[in-house]
Parts: sequence; structure tokens; C-alpha cells
Amino acid sequence: MEENKQVDPVEYRPGLKKVRSRRWVLWIIILVYLPAMKVALDSPDYKTWVTIVFATWVVFLIIAVAFACIVRCPRCGECFHTHGPTFLPFRRCLHCALHINADKRAAEAEPPKAKYAKK
Ligand SMILES: [Zn+2]
Repeated sequence: MEENKQVDPVEYRPGLKKVRSRRWVLWIIILVYLPAMKVALDSPDYKTWVTIVFATWVVFLIIAVAFACIVRCPRCGECFHTHGPTFLPFRRCLHCALHINADKRAAEAEPPKAKYAKK
């Protein structure tokens, strides 16, 4: 932990941008479901379109979750949102507790310890 305090969080910006962009893609895909399903249900051939929209959405969701799972933390190099088989899209790294906006905000006087850190 001592060496982590010496690094300026701005140096993590490229890695954190990648984490943030993958989170945005995931949330957009989740939110797009309802309007897409509404359009499909309003179409004349709704049974076919509901099936197509749902199957397409599930495929995109799986891809987005997979990319969000494998994105690496710029500080510790571990998967940012994944600890073992568990996907937890929290705003802090599950391994070193680096905040997702650490490059944008002031340094924390008392940074929290990672809940799921290796012992
Ligand atoms: Zn980390």
C-alpha cells in the first residue's frame, strides 16, 4: 500500500477511462431493453420481433458483461469488477479499492480497504 500512495491517480486515467466506458456500455444495453421491447410489441408482427429483440439483447448483454468482467484495474492489475466467479459492478476495485473516479477527484485522506482483498 505504501507504494500506491506515491503514484498520482491521474496516471491511472487511461485505465480508469476504459473501466468507465465499459460500465457505460453495460448500463446503456440494460436501459435500451424497455424501449426496444416497446417498439417490438407495437409492431404488427410482434411475436417475431419480440423474439428477435430479446435474443439480440441477451447476446449484447452477455458480451457487455464479459467485457466489464475482464477489464483490469490500472493500479493493481486485477479484474476491476470481478472477484473469483462473482461479478460485482461496484464503483471501487474489488481488490485495491481504487475509486472509478480517482483521477477526477481529490485524493482521499483515509482510503477504504478493499473488502475482498487477498489476505
Ligand atoms: Zn485494483
